[in-house]
Amino acid sequence: LPRYDIRSPRLYVADTLAPGAEVTLDQSQAHYLRHVLRLAPGDVALAFNGRDGEWRGALAISGKRTGLKLQEQTRPQTSTLNVHYLFAPLKHERLDYMVQKAVEMGVSRLQPVLTRHTQVQRVNLERMRANAIEAAEQCGVLSIPEIAEPVAFERAIAARAPDQLLVFCDEDAEVMDPVAALGDARRARPSATTHGPMPTALLIGPEGGFADEERAMLLRQPNIVRLSLGPRILRADTAAVAALALVQAVLGDWR
Ligand code: SAH
Repeated sequence: LPRYDIRSPRLYVADTLAPGAEVTLDQSQAHYLRHVLRLAPGDVALAFNGRDGEWRGALAISGKRTGLKLQEQTRPQTSTLNVHYLFAPLKHERLDYMVQKAVEMGVSRLQPVLTRHTQVQRVNLERMRANAIEAAEQCGVLSIPEIAEPVAFERAIAARAPDQLLVFCDEDAEVMDPVAALGDARRARPSATTHGPMPTALLIGPEGGFADEERAMLLRQPNIVRLSLGPRILRADTAAVAALALVQAVLGDWR
């Protein structure tokens, strides 16, 4: 059974959450609760803001204003995982899908990376954020991942913290047991830090794949795993979900 209430609607809000506080909902949230879900005053909804945990509140309507009168905290704020997802941006619906799935899989930061063969150069960060919020509301995570501005490939690689393992998915890598490959990286971790999820950056390339010089640069980096996702070429959004499942199972919070 889920450890938390999955029946009540959950909304991401900006306001501070505290006992007795009344949180104002924006127009689309008010519309969703009142006209899509047809909630009445007094009905329960949940709210989270990425800082104060999750709260239960009662719908309060006065004139044009729709609010949630907070009753009690239902879950304390959890610390966020350190899983950065680095990806070459895709077009429209496939990017929407990829952002939603990455949030459900628990990433803490979404970092668009412009590689040599990346076709999409401009990314709508507002749209990414809207997708991230929608996915967080529906899957129960208590914070919205950070959404970063696109950066050039070299900068993204250079910006990585030294203790963060870089998992780089490469369809040209020899097919090998991915669980064993990630497990080796976990065991190679300095012993002082072997507990808890491992800080990880996952990198997925564009539909055109990595350029030879990008691959060469990656292979020169310390603290890196070049991961094969099997003998088939996956589309980037599929590769993202497959790789995040492996990362969460071996290094992350599925254990
Ligand atoms: N260059 C390829 C397609 C790249 S697929 C071609 O056109 O033939 C897009 C991205 O998904 C790749 O850069 C890689 O990061 C990931 N990917 C897809 N299939 C993979 C596999 N079998 N193993 C590892 N990574 C894969």
